[in-house]
Parts: sequence; structure tokens; C-alpha cells
Amino acid sequence: MLAACFSAYAADVTVGTATARPGEKANGFIPVVAGVDAAENIPVIVIQGAKTGPMLALVAGAHGTEYASIIALEKLAQSIDPSVLSGTLVIVPLLNLASFQQKVPHVNPVDGKNMNRFYPGKADGTQTERASWAITKNVIERCDYLIDYHGGDLDENLRKYSYWADTGNAHLDGITRGMVLAFGLDHIIIQKPGPITPGGPVTITRYAQSVGKPAIAVEAGHSGTTQAEDLEALIHGTENVMRHLKMLAGTVTPVEHPLWIGRISTVSADQDGIFYPLVMPEAYVKEGMAIGYVTDYFGQKIHDVPSPVSGVVIYIGALPSMKKGDSIGYIGELAEEPRP
Ligand SMILES: [Zn+2]
Repeated sequence: MLAACFSAYAADVTVGTATARPGEKANGFIPVVAGVDAAENIPVIVIQGAKTGPMLALVAGAHGTEYASIIALEKLAQSIDPSVLSGTLVIVPLLNLASFQQKVPHVNPVDGKNMNRFYPGKADGTQTERASWAITKNVIERCDYLIDYHGGDLDENLRKYSYWADTGNAHLDGITRGMVLAFGLDHIIIQKPGPITPGGPVTITRYAQSVGKPAIAVEAGHSGTTQAEDLEALIHGTENVMRHLKMLAGTVTPVEHPLWIGRISTVSADQDGIFYPLVMPEAYVKEGMAIGYVTDYFGQKIHDVPSPVSGVVIYIGALPSMKKGDSIGYIGELAEEPRP
């Protein structure tokens, strides 16, 4: 009888300092203790549904100036009603607080590291590594599914797309394919992650996949903007994944004919100068076509920037600032729809 009583109650869910009982929301922090550099407290919102179900983790702000993704999760956390939710949402809306506060794109200014490259992290590394370790232990290892949110950073112009990984694990890849189609963005980049190599870059989704957790990444917003269209795409996409996972009631119409994109070519600046884009995101460009041009500081054109391949502009530099080695854009080659 006692056992039956216990099983009738769902347990509290605690992540960091946030504890949510069934049917409750709780705010708190995932602490990152001080080490070779400063401590950090990563905000976390735990929403435990009134009914049981899976745990879905939503993580944004590894790049703290990709604002649309951060604001989308802030709004989503406010709008979800735990009484109609099955399962638990663990929302980390702003992983890289220092980047956000100091308006520094791409990296954590505390240690200069990209906060989406060092998973699973290290308990005794620099702040980025310790934060990644805290997310691994508190979020990745505990969740059943994970979505990582990005967008065009301050200097990047892009539309909206998602990433689906072809890991070779048919079971995992089938689940993530369902998630990415339910999310609904109509440009999907196919990743072929391969085995993790020591010292190589490991994103949160790649690490999650490597430990068997279905994980996708989505991108919307650009250049510091928080346009309603981008927020809505991220919020509605997330709700659709929750319906797909039976965490919310309702049916999902998956995106029917997305553009599947295979190999991505990075175009980099080979000298300092001033950049002028000539194409917009999602434009189709032919190999050799100019996607922009570069002038010197006197306004004289130095050279055109040709596309290395024929494909779709995934993102294009949004700012005139251009120094040697900077990325100017990504061009994605069209791919066949992967077989389910
Ligand atoms: Zn990002």
C-alpha cells in the first residue's frame, strides 16, 4: 500500500537551486564554482508538468549576443502552463552571461573560449569548461531530449534553419529527424559528426548525441535583433516538438518539403578591409559568383569575394568590419532528403 502511494506521486525535480513540484515552475541557478577564474551562476527554469512525461532540455545563449534565441526561451518559460504539461522542461535561457552583459559576441570574455565547443567540459578548467561540465552533469545527463538555440550573432546575417545529425545510430537519428521536422524550419543542415577526437571541438548537441540523447540545434535571428517573426518561429517550433513528444496536447504538421543542406563551405577573409555583402541569406549562388566585395580603408575595391561552390547562402557577414581570417559567410550545398 505504501509502495502504491509512493508511485502515485511524481517526485520533485531539482536542477541546481531550482526545485519544482508536480504542476509547478521554479527559478534558480546552476552554480559554477570559482576556479582559475571567476564563479558564475547560470539561470535555470524548471517546469514540472502536472502529468508525468519526458524531460526536455532547452538551452540558449552559449553565444550571449544571439538575442532572439535567448528572448524566445524567456518568453516560452513565461507562457508554459504546468497544469497542461506532461513531463518536465528544463530551460537554460542564457548560458553565457558575461557575453550577454558585456555585449561580446562568439566567446565567453572571461576566458576567451567559445561556449559551444568544450563539452563535456572539465570540473577544474577555465570558466567555459567548468560551465560546460555543470551543464553536462545537471542537464545533458539527466534529460531525455535536448534542443540548443542559436542565431546570427552581432556580425552575422542569417534567416532560420535547424541542424539534424546523421550520426549513424538509426534509432537516435530517427528520433531527431522527427524533432527537426516537427520544429518546422524549412532549411535543415545535415551534420555528419563522426567520432569525437581528443582535443577537438565538441558542441552540446554532439556531446548529447554521443551519450545517446536525441538533440537538435536551431537558429533564428541575426545582428542583435529580436524580431517577432524569429521569436515566434522558435517558440512555435518548440511547442510543436513538445506536441510531437506528447508533452502538450494537439497535433503537429511537420514541415513537408524542407530544403536539406549537405556540405557547408566557409568563406574566410584573406586580408583586412571593409566588407560589403552582395547577397542575402537563403539566396542561391553559383560557384564563382560574388557574394560580396572588400575595399581598403580608402574605399578602393580590393577584390570580389567569390562563392567557392554552388549552393544556398546560410549566413553572410552583416558588418563592414573585416579582418584577415574572419568568416565572411557559409555556403551550403543542396542534398538529397535523407532516408528515414
Ligand atoms: Zn550561436
